[in-house]
Amino acid sequence: MGSQGHHQLHVIFFPFMAQGHLIPTIDMAKLFASKGCKVTILTTSYFTPFLSKKIENSAQIDIFNIRVPAAEVGLPEGIDITILTTSYFTPFLSKKIENSAQIDIFNIRVPAAEVGLPEGIDSAHAAGTPEMMETFFKACGKLGPQLDQILERHRPVCLVADMFFPWATDVAAKFGIPTLLFHGTCYFALCGSTSVFLHEPHKKVSSDLEPFILPNFPDQVEFTASRVPHFMRHDDETELTKLFKAMKEVEFKSYGVLVNSFYELEPAYADHYRKVLGRKAWNIGPLFLYNKGSNSDEHECLKWLDSKKPNSVVFVSFGSMANFDDEQLEEIATGLEASGQQFIWVVKKEKKEGVKEEWLPEGFEERIKGKGLIIRGWAPQVPILEHEAVGGFVTHCGWNSTQESVCAGVPMVTWPIAAEQFYNEKLVTQILRVGVEVGAKKWKRLVGDFVKRDAIERAVSRVMEGEEAEEMRSRVKRLAEMARSAVKEGGSSVLDLNALFDDLRSAHYSSYENLH
Ligand code: UDP
Repeated sequence: MGSQGHHQLHVIFFPFMAQGHLIPTIDMAKLFASKGCKVTILTTSYFTPFLSKKIENSAQIDIFNIRVPAAEVGLPEGIDITILTTSYFTPFLSKKIENSAQIDIFNIRVPAAEVGLPEGIDSAHAAGTPEMMETFFKACGKLGPQLDQILERHRPVCLVADMFFPWATDVAAKFGIPTLLFHGTCYFALCGSTSVFLHEPHKKVSSDLEPFILPNFPDQVEFTASRVPHFMRHDDETELTKLFKAMKEVEFKSYGVLVNSFYELEPAYADHYRKVLGRKAWNIGPLFLYNKGSNSDEHECLKWLDSKKPNSVVFVSFGSMANFDDEQLEEIATGLEASGQQFIWVVKKEKKEGVKEEWLPEGFEERIKGKGLIIRGWAPQVPILEHEAVGGFVTHCGWNSTQESVCAGVPMVTWPIAAEQFYNEKLVTQILRVGVEVGAKKWKRLVGDFVKRDAIERAVSRVMEGEEAEEMRSRVKRLAEMARSAVKEGGSSVLDLNALFDDLRSAHYSSYENLH
């Protein structure tokens, strides 16, 4: 070895700017770093007083360094992780990665104004309406030149690009850098959306709610046009239809796909995706299991849970994006109360002193004292799910949440809203049989289909009590054990990860030898 520097693999990650994409990316970054890699994560930033000076000097690209004591937590000294992010995510990232490695954050800027968005919209969360979200995707399509500069300067052995940046594969190819794609979802959803994309079954039915069977699919799974993303339902070409098409095509152009799932969870779909649909893929999840224990949470809700009996509390939370209106929130409150179950409910609405909250039923907070807890804003979801008092999870079926529930051995009430969540619901309820559907039928970005109180009450009771609940609980506990085995030495995800690293190393050595 000439010098270690020549042979250290450098991998750059470029996730979409939303928590659901960033969280597993941070876990992947740590995992790759633990294999001795130098890791860089790219995300966006807009001008802040803190960063502006450096940004001026470096064409909107900035580097923000946090030094943390790697050795103290058992990581090799000198592991170098670089994260490119917007200032929106900087505090969040710093909290997630503190104590775990030496971290650099690179900031890039989304050209919001160029597409008519207010300056400073640098995350999907800041784009608060469905219309603004579409425009935000358009702004992200303009990040190519910034990526180009970074890749030219840093020449990583490989780029891991989010599915929402299909153009990144071409940018990397210019420098001979292979791209791995990260969708952040499971094989089942990848197979489901490919089935709908290729065969368009939703265009062959007479109504939005007429069921059809997903074509060319390992199991007989019923779906409806209403569950298909709206941008795939119509023939007119929009930014999003073009983006979605590009996302599917790039799966063949790229080096392969990284899947945050484990083989034993969905073997038929892992095989179908690779052998029938012909994609090269590595399942390396559940990613969050590799780094568990690095963030200790002392949230008061965990103490509250300590006072409860096993499996006696239902956890209700809809991820980082969903934004229910007052009418839906009131329906949830009433349904939960009627179920008679104890609950923790995460509501993404701030409490404003002196302002009456229309969605809170009269006297609700008084009546639920000791029995129910409302958390405003961000909740420590993984520790909550893992607490033995939690016996059910009402979830929007985001893939991270779904997998976290599986790994905690908690059965689910499935309430999909948008994205690929309706596929995830089918995996949970029909294939794995570890959850029951609340009855949401329509794909609707951010707000979801309206669900009535009776349906909520029924589904919550079904998942918490009775023989069906017990059966689901024992099935999901078996899956949780399989998940743990997958990330242990010799487990399926560890073997896939090792195979991926063998590939990366041989690509790295051959390009190194070509140069010398
Ligand atoms: N999450 C959390 N606390 C919250 C809301 C979300 O810790 O109050 C985490 C959750 O554990 C998961 C991620 O945020 O890891 C949400 O990702 P998911 O794919 O489930 O949904 P999305 O937010 O992308 O819709």
